[in-house]
Amino acid sequence: MNFVLVGATLIDGNGGAPLENAAVHVQAGRIAWVGAASELPAAAQAAKQIDASRKWLLPGLIDAHIHICYNGEESTFALLEKPRDALVLEAVEICKRTLQQGVTTIRDVGGEKYIEMSLRDAINRGWIEGPRMKLCGRVISMTGGHAHFIAREADGPDEMRKAAREQIKAGADLVKLMATGGSATPGQDIHASQLTVAEIAAVCEVAHMMGRTVAAHCHGTGGIRNCMLGGVDSIEHGTYLDDETADMMVERGAALCLTVGVGNPDLESYPLSPVQQADAERRKPMIEQGVKQIRKTIALARSKGVFLGCGTDAGGNPLAPHRFALAREVELIVENDVPPLEAITIATRNNARILRWDDEIGTVEAGKYADLLLLNSDPIADIRSLRDIAAVYKGGERV
Ligand SMILES: [Zn+2]
Repeated sequence: MNFVLVGATLIDGNGGAPLENAAVHVQAGRIAWVGAASELPAAAQAAKQIDASRKWLLPGLIDAHIHICYNGEESTFALLEKPRDALVLEAVEICKRTLQQGVTTIRDVGGEKYIEMSLRDAINRGWIEGPRMKLCGRVISMTGGHAHFIAREADGPDEMRKAAREQIKAGADLVKLMATGGSATPGQDIHASQLTVAEIAAVCEVAHMMGRTVAAHCHGTGGIRNCMLGGVDSIEHGTYLDDETADMMVERGAALCLTVGVGNPDLESYPLSPVQQADAERRKPMIEQGVKQIRKTIALARSKGVFLGCGTDAGGNPLAPHRFALAREVELIVENDVPPLEAITIATRNNARILRWDDEIGTVEAGKYADLLLLNSDPIADIRSLRDIAAVYKGGERV
């Protein structure tokens, strides 16, 4: 693999103005050189030249909040009753589809039977096609907490430490906590805090000692506050962020991983199954309230300078299918008054930082993996262009 993509308009993921008529030299899976086509070094001129004029070139997208083992079309309870092989085979297909949609890296924040770890390893060995992956193994919740039916339930700091260490032992790259109630768990109050500061701090201590980050599901403000006091690295959803908790996040350098799409599901572009219709009906008031609230939260977070990432929560509930979910997420972020260039930066460079992988992915820069997304139309003019894919490259290999 030694080639040069020539002539595209480059949006490198750093948030700067696009560079017209750019060239990217890819060698041995990495970006060897990037810049204006007119300045292409002599060494690159011998490589195969691929015409990319009238195309837009971006870093591969990163989904920082996904559940790859669940299809996001059936109820979690139905999925839990399926044979393991059925889940594995469908997840293999979801991995492939995710990559084809331009998502070259994901962070799985809640797996099933450690299937996601086998997927990650199979992808790394080249047995199946899929995105690069960081994952948490099983989520950790209190007894009866959010998503307890898939969680490692734990109570008190000692049990929480053990639960976190179990995930790391199994191969987790990060630890995921459920710090408030969630709407995917019937009967829960999303404002209710579900973990004490002492429990959160215990997990953060052992995870950080072993070089892992901690991500926490939070809707209610109290949960966000507890997580900041306990040392959490990223707040997932963060729906009811307020002035005080936004300041705490900025002070501590914590990230807010937005999941706008999961609070505003796509109910129009595909036929809903009876299960999906029932879920849409049950969650209707929460969805209506959530759409208004997240607009405030995004505005507040940006005005305070909270570090933003984003994810789809695809797979997280029956209304979160893996269908261009990250493109939709970025579209919804733009609908919430975020400029397209900034939204793209959130879904690439910022997410790479949340994954602690920004030395190798997230921007189109020399030395990084050649994870590239080539579009047929201009995403700055119309963000829906993220679905108008000409080519996807992962590690310099065309998908
Ligand atoms: Zn989730």
